[in-house]
Amino acid sequence: MAVAGKRKKVYIETFGCIQNKADSERIRAFYWNKGYEQMPDWKEADVVIINSCIVRQSAENRAYGLINNIDKYRKATNKKIKIVLTGCLVGLAGEKIIEKLPPVEILPITKISYQIKPLRDKKQAALIPISSGCDNFCSYCIVPYARGRERSRKKEEILAEVDRAIESGFSEVILIGQNVNSYGKGRFTDLLESVAKKDLEKISFVSSNPWDFSDKLIGKIAKYKNVDRLIHLPLQSGDDEILKKMNRPYTAKKYLRLVEKIRSKVDGVRFSTDILIGFPGESRKAFGNTVKLCKRVGFELAYLNKYSPRKGTVSAKLYADDVPWKEKQRRWRRLNELINKKLS
Ligand code: SAM
Ligand code: SF4
Repeated sequence: MAVAGKRKKVYIETFGCIQNKADSERIRAFYWNKGYEQMPDWKEADVVIINSCIVRQSAENRAYGLINNIDKYRKATNKKIKIVLTGCLVGLAGEKIIEKLPPVEILPITKISYQIKPLRDKKQAALIPISSGCDNFCSYCIVPYARGRERSRKKEEILAEVDRAIESGFSEVILIGQNVNSYGKGRFTDLLESVAKKDLEKISFVSSNPWDFSDKLIGKIAKYKNVDRLIHLPLQSGDDEILKKMNRPYTAKKYLRLVEKIRSKVDGVRFSTDILIGFPGESRKAFGNTVKLCKRVGFELAYLNKYSPRKGTVSAKLYADDVPWKEKQRRWRRLNELINKKLS
């Protein structure tokens, strides 16, 4: 291993979700083990890692923008900066992506094993991936194509990582996965209980599918006071027709019933959510149903995403992106005022 001060320099840019953030913590450890230290600015680096996201076109474009900027800079300065592309863009396009881009190397994220001990970003809550991939195929979502089918990590491996986080001073953990509560085909409750018994002040988990939120899980949340009372429960839409077209297996009524059931069993519970704005065919009335449901639930926080058609997904094949951009923005502002403005 290289001696401190003689280390080569790496810069890691992370786009997208908390899963990518967790992957980047292992990427940083992988490069540290190869003798690299992290730089705060890509211009100072020998290697720039781009951990990409493709959930929306805008996120994908940001990765291309950065690659092009670095390429221009290395041509202008003759600096030999190596660009390494990883994340969902590679998961989807594989080696083919190279043809479209300035010289880059490809690093499939599967090469960054869970055995690598992450160099964590946050000092407060340790991110612990428990599963990756997704089997749900919501009609708008590219994740199942980019990350593949759902794979759960072994429970012992997860618990060992939690123990190491505690030993290194963490009092909070966040269990993460695209569908955290479908972990191990019905074994999420057991896992959560084992983690909750440890010496931790707070355990959070993201993201939960409403349809995998069992009574047993609600019971365990109620039992263990160190399980976070802010539950993230993606809604996406409050209109039944739109939910059906999204291939989300619940109705607005069912979602509300679930929220009410959790409220009746877990003292002090609050909710946050994800909403997809302007899905094809989302009329003013359909959007109004989402607003109504949001008011009834009283979310504390919402991640508001404007629909972006993703090539290869069912919704991009079947439906025209027919809600104008300005209208998506208007709807975004409406929900932001309603839910998130309270925060500022
Ligand atoms: N598994 C979680 C769920 O079921 O909500 C979230 C994972 S998903 C990658 C994160 C968020 O990205 C989703 O909640 C959705 O709102 C958003 N998203 C997914 N596909 C999108 C698209 N085509 N356009 C805009 N936002 C999208
Ligand atoms: Fe995408 Fe749906 Fe899977 Fe979430 S549950 S990652 S939105 S396909």
